[in-house]
Amino acid sequence: MRQLIWFRTDLRVRDNTALAAAMAAGPTLALYLVSPTQWLAHDDAPCKVDFWLRNLGELSTALRRLGVPLLIRTVDSWQQAPQALAALCREQRIDCVQVNDEYGVHESRRDQAVAAELQTHGIGLRRHLDQLLFNPGSILTQSGGYFQVYSQFRKVCYSRLHLAAPACAAQPEAQAPLAQDSDPIPQAVAGFARPAESLRQLWPAGEQEALSRLQRFTDESMADYREARDRPASAGTSQLSPYLAAGVLSPRQCLQAALMANAGEFESGNPGAVSWINELLWREFYKHILVGYPRVSRHRAFRADTEAVAWRHAPNELAAWQQGRTGFPIIDAAMRQLLATGWMHNRLRMIVAMFLTKNLLIDWREGERFFMRQLIDGDLAANNGGWQWSASTGTDSAPYFRIFNPLSQSEKFDAEGRFIRQWLPELAELGNKDLHKVAALNARAQGLFSHTDYPRPMVDLGQSRARALAAFKRLATPHAIPEPDHVW
Ligand code: FAD
Repeated sequence: MRQLIWFRTDLRVRDNTALAAAMAAGPTLALYLVSPTQWLAHDDAPCKVDFWLRNLGELSTALRRLGVPLLIRTVDSWQQAPQALAALCREQRIDCVQVNDEYGVHESRRDQAVAAELQTHGIGLRRHLDQLLFNPGSILTQSGGYFQVYSQFRKVCYSRLHLAAPACAAQPEAQAPLAQDSDPIPQAVAGFARPAESLRQLWPAGEQEALSRLQRFTDESMADYREARDRPASAGTSQLSPYLAAGVLSPRQCLQAALMANAGEFESGNPGAVSWINELLWREFYKHILVGYPRVSRHRAFRADTEAVAWRHAPNELAAWQQGRTGFPIIDAAMRQLLATGWMHNRLRMIVAMFLTKNLLIDWREGERFFMRQLIDGDLAANNGGWQWSASTGTDSAPYFRIFNPLSQSEKFDAEGRFIRQWLPELAELGNKDLHKVAALNARAQGLFSHTDYPRPMVDLGQSRARALAAFKRLATPHAIPEPDHVW
């Protein structure tokens, strides 16, 4: 029975459930669909598309060692996926297509349409759990609904992990060569500019690179993760998110590495390992939310009542935030990190998101879209979850009255201004304390110091905070949690 593995966000050969299943079932070919219009519609960042292409190159080499040719087809959007798959299956006499599940609304619809089309040709589509530790729909409340509160979700995950931690798939053996060559991997895709070389070098492609980074993190940094994870100046987090988002690394590989470093424990033992596993479970939580509450996939607020927030239309302020010209050093340094590296530290993502949605009272969807267009790790579930958390429109999100003050945040997490100075060298002469003080920043912008090339803080933090509180208090039920969407 000839098999086709259709790669999507699972660009690796190790611990790949669908690949292992395909190769166990029969002679296997591989496919990747380049989908430029679809990617543009999804706001996929040019640096992320470039990362996919670079990883496809590595994947093709790894597959060749297994005797599996990787074919590349281009469809403009996923609407053409069913026909493209059916044509390829006929041409290559494929009996069964194997895929690892993806969870967005468009991805689910695409797979349903592909399954239906293949069925008319007598070809099967087998779907596998791979991107997550637990199938969405398998971690539910006692009344059978999806969890809306993370700590309750985690408790059930823990009880499952006590029974058995998901194990990695076996590495497939090489198969006998097939009479089919691999296709060349495109170097670029129209509509997506090639990122700067400096950015590309920060994120080398390939699963060997991902595994080495994982090993380095567990050996050198995991023990201190709980303390170091909030300080953006130090490399205290794993920086594995681009690899996880593209599936160059699996969550099982991450979990198993953390368990190995913590004598098999996930809720006790080394606090660094426990809190890192906690983050893997946040990743899990937001993907389950995507399935349980598909409206978040359609850019709707999780809390329906917050659709009534009177967000401001303020394009100049939005542009200042996007370009790192707000006059708040921690915000501007963070935005410059994003623009230059395609990645931003988690603490900073929360600070800049809260600033945009609360102090500027600009719709979280503007920030979500801008992030997606820049991030090399852009992931619908985590990005939407993070934005809705910060905007207080989401599940288990920050209460609307707990608004981060960007200056106290930078004083707390970048007290010596090491991160700020790395990205804002024009502030080098300001003293450590002055970096976090409005009066000093205003004085500097007025030219009392040597330069005037850094803007004064663009809003009054007290007034803008009061404006945000008033906007949320106007909601009929500021704390209501909505009913789940229809089960589907
Ligand atoms: P580590 O601290 O080493 O964590 C390990 C892994 O756990 C990460 O690689 C990631 O896969 C997962 N993880 C960690 N924190 C979270 C979290 N809060 N939610 C979900 N998963 C998490 N993460 C993305 O992968 N893609 C996004 O598009 C994304 N957008 C975000 C937007 C906002 C506004 C916020 C507040 C957070 C967002 N996050 C996103 C979550 C988090 O910021 C990143 O996963 C993290 O910064 C990646 O760095 P790391 O790999 O060093 O993480």
